[in-house]
Amino acid sequence: MPFTADQPPPRQIGTTKTGKKSIRLIGDIYKERLRTGQPVVSIEFFPPKTPSGDTRLFDHTLPALQRLAPDFYSVTYGAGGSTRDKTLEVVDRIQQEHQTTTMAHLTCISSSLAQIKHYLFEARQRGIRNILALRGDPPQDSSISADTSKSFEYAFQLVSFIKQLGGFSIGTAGFPESHVACDQGKHVDWQRLKVKIEAGADFVLTQLFFNNDDYFIFRDYLVNTLGVEVPITPGLLPIQSTKQIKRFTALCGATLPASLLTKLEKLGDDTTAVSEFGIEFASRQSEALIAGGAPGLHIYSLNKPDAASQILKNLSLRA
Ligand SMILES: Cc1cc2nc3c(=O)[nH]c(=O)nc-3n(C[C@H](O)[C@H](O)[C@H](O)COP(=O)(O)OP(=O)(O)OC[C@H]3O[C@@H](n4cnc5c(N)ncnc54)[C@H](O)[C@@H]3O)c2cc1C
Repeated sequence: MPFTADQPPPRQIGTTKTGKKSIRLIGDIYKERLRTGQPVVSIEFFPPKTPSGDTRLFDHTLPALQRLAPDFYSVTYGAGGSTRDKTLEVVDRIQQEHQTTTMAHLTCISSSLAQIKHYLFEARQRGIRNILALRGDPPQDSSISADTSKSFEYAFQLVSFIKQLGGFSIGTAGFPESHVACDQGKHVDWQRLKVKIEAGADFVLTQLFFNNDDYFIFRDYLVNTLGVEVPITPGLLPIQSTKQIKRFTALCGATLPASLLTKLEKLGDDTTAVSEFGIEFASRQSEALIAGGAPGLHIYSLNKPDAASQILKNLSLRA
């Protein structure tokens, strides 16, 4: 079901004076960077929930990160569509104010087909060219309505739907330690990732992890055993608080290695020391990932600029 003539044309944004488009398909960004041997740097935000959160993101975080010229940003989609409009608004505003490619996340688990279509048409109309196609987690908040009629159960179905629609570069999620809910073992989960790629995903962004061997084993299995050819980019979360990282890893099923936990516990409640350690750890982790052939880095910024900026500076990855 491709876009048809009765749909309004996409708004043209981000065309430079020389006619070059600055809002690009992420699949093309990867191809270009891989040709020149440079890692693709991307930074993830969540849509702020308050006006002061908007101000922080747009007046502080983004101007600071823009100085580092990341290749693209991405903006998450709240469980069950709870940030449906806000995600598109934030992506649109970043693209318009900063002429930098920004990807909208989209989950399918609690959305009707009509809601998904509406989101994609609106994205296209706003000049958004990239979608991270996800299943999402079932909403825990019972106040969020879940119209699941005629929708999709798994992300591969959403990827396939967006691919048929056309006009977007599509990303998908990968799990180096296997998806937390997959009880048939990591190879089954990774085979399912291959299905998402065959359905039309142009690149994979991974869940956070702290042991690089997990990424390399996952990547090598996908490439050498399953024949996957799209870029598989590691997702990195610079640790900013011990309590927070324990909560995140418990939720997503990532392992917090014992040696890392011991170090964090020694630092106790000294948040400055924990953040500095988090930056140092993520910088060393990133350096080894790139040395091992990772095509880029996707940094979960939690809407703060300092850790991402410092990591990229430590790696001399950007200006
Ligand atoms: C980079 C990244 C960004 C994310 N952004 C967001 C976001 O913005 N909003 C949000 O809500 N969540 C986000 N998530 C979390 C994600 O939505 C959850 O981890 C979700 O539980 C899985 O999504 P998926 O797209 O990988 O699902 P799927 O690929 O559909 O997999 C989900 C589970 O179903 C299993 N499965 C897949 N296919 C089949 C099949 N045919 N039969 C049986 N089982 C199957 C898989 O093994 C897995 O256990 C993100 C995750 C990552 C890594």
